[in-house]
Amino acid sequence: MLQLFIPLGFLGIVYRQIKYALADMDLVFKLLERQPEIEDQPNAPTLALTEGAIRFEQVDFHYQPERPILHGIDFTLAPGQTLAVVGHSGAGKSTLSRLLFRFYDVTGGRIVLDGQNIRSVTQESLRAAIGIVPQDTVLFNESIYYNLAYGRPEASRAEIERAAEMAHIRAFIESLPDGWNTVVGERGLKLSGGEKQRVAIARAILKRPRILIFDEATSSLDSHTEQAIQQTLAEVAENHTTLVIAHRLSTVVDADRILVLEQGRIREQGRHRELLDAGGHYAAMWELQQREIRASSRQLSAAS
Ligand code: ATP
Repeated sequence: MLQLFIPLGFLGIVYRQIKYALADMDLVFKLLERQPEIEDQPNAPTLALTEGAIRFEQVDFHYQPERPILHGIDFTLAPGQTLAVVGHSGAGKSTLSRLLFRFYDVTGGRIVLDGQNIRSVTQESLRAAIGIVPQDTVLFNESIYYNLAYGRPEASRAEIERAAEMAHIRAFIESLPDGWNTVVGERGLKLSGGEKQRVAIARAILKRPRILIFDEATSSLDSHTEQAIQQTLAEVAENHTTLVIAHRLSTVVDADRILVLEQGRIREQGRHRELLDAGGHYAAMWELQQREIRASSRQLSAAS
């Protein structure tokens, strides 16, 4: 009996490991459309990230040679700062984050982290240094504890609870009848868009990366949830070098630097106030969004 029991226990461990591995591949392929041909150079060293400074040097990129996407992207982000990237749909914002994570190699120029070209270090060490909060978070049909622990499966319970606290989702989890054991996902409790983003933020916190990429959800969250998520993000971003792919300009007001991308080129850059004063493309986008916000609040008050 004992002999039968041990191999089954062992199989259980193997099963869990396979499941983590499969979940990982699923996430990678679904969210980030990984190109399998990206390979480590022979004997590539691991990334030695001390401060988390990011430098894009004259970066060009295309998915297909006949259709260039990014042209001469050049910027430096000092450790701990927040860079927001704005621009119309299709301008190339998310592509920047895919290149930083090295899901594709740049086709010109280079990306340097703390002085090291990301092409010359192992992909594993690069990706361990970067946490991503994606637009749409994939949840597994498992307990909410499992879904959070996915950020770093070896994390202790105390660390997981603390990450949930920082992401402002702990009180919600603990108010559920089954608490941390509540099954979420396809056949379990459906989480709202805002709750899912908090799970993703907690996962990213658990990973303890130096660099954080926040790809803002395009799907609309109600304005209260949106503000709360932004507040949470601002708290978390304090300790990281952060790249925010912003779809709403309200997100970027406090960023240390804003890049305005247009058709794959940096059209303007600066802080919110500077860009408004410059009266250019950003100022026009801001004015348009403000007008839209005023129009929708007029509609809301007319309907009530
Ligand atoms: P949005 O605000 O709509 O998310 P974006 O500014 O983030 O847009 P990207 O997702 O970076 O834009 O896409 C930039 C351009 O690259 C788009 O024209 C898009 O069609 C193209 N593109 C994106 N992914 C691929 C891909 N895997 N293969 C080919 N073209 C792609």
